[in-house]
Amino acid sequence: LEERILQTQKMESIARLAGGVAHDLNNLMTAVLGQAELLRLALPSDSPLADRADKIITSAMQASGLAQQLLAYARGGKYAPRVINLNETVRDVIKLNERSIGHNVELEVDLEPDLWPIYADPSQMAQVVMNLIINAVEAMENGGRLTVRTFNSSLDTPCGDISPGRYVILEVTDTGHGMDQETLANIFEPFFTTKFTGRGLGLAAVYGIISNHGGYIQVDSTPGKGTSFFVYLPSLDPQTAVQHRAEELEEKEGD
Ligand code: ADP
Ligand code: MG
Repeated sequence: LEERILQTQKMESIARLAGGVAHDLNNLMTAVLGQAELLRLALPSDSPLADRADKIITSAMQASGLAQQLLAYARGGKYAPRVINLNETVRDVIKLNERSIGHNVELEVDLEPDLWPIYADPSQMAQVVMNLIINAVEAMENGGRLTVRTFNSSLDTPCGDISPGRYVILEVTDTGHGMDQETLANIFEPFFTTKFTGRGLGLAAVYGIISNHGGYIQVDSTPGKGTSFFVYLPSLDPQTAVQHRAEELEEKEGD
């Protein structure tokens, strides 16, 4: 046991060190990125140096993305699934992001009261909800309506990559600028962004997390009208949920 504690302490100090380095690196890269963007703006677009400035920007974005990933990892990015109610995640994320949702966005939250449980990592789920909400808000610069909804669904036929079964669905809909076909085809690619200061990592992370959880993500978008994201997550049947909960309790008692 003592050895295990030592090992855990060692891992924790490594994580803390990595987190510290990632944090500083991220700040430095933000400065590099900001300066390079100013430089880029100051250059006439036909300047042969513009291309070089673009390359600095791209690399700085990638480095800062790496630093952020490392930071997320050091903060405890390892996969730790539990029996959760996605409604709680949605409520927490909305509360945390209330200020960034802003006053010109009308928010409608419609959560299924009897939502089925899922077996998922709560902090990864929070990341999914947060990224979808932030993108929706960013797509509505001139205001609009953000709808966040959860519901249960029994699929009788396969849907995308997933087989029939019981799913919990999270819907995030905005009335923003929408996407054309070419954008839609690339949104899950790491570093793909159409935003000037975008990182292009939000939806790549969402996609990775959802597929790790055996889920599926569907997008409907109309340019000029808005976008809907639907996240399907496999629900736990009640018996398995009870079993997992019992295990979680036992673990807690063992601590
Ligand atoms: P970022 O937000 O940093 O650009 P993301 O991976 O979160 O990176 O999103 C990638 C791209 O997908 C965005 O740049 C944008 O073009 C498009 N996108 C994502 N969500 C929406 C949305 N709700 N409405 C319109 N476009 C969106
Ligand atoms: Mg984003």
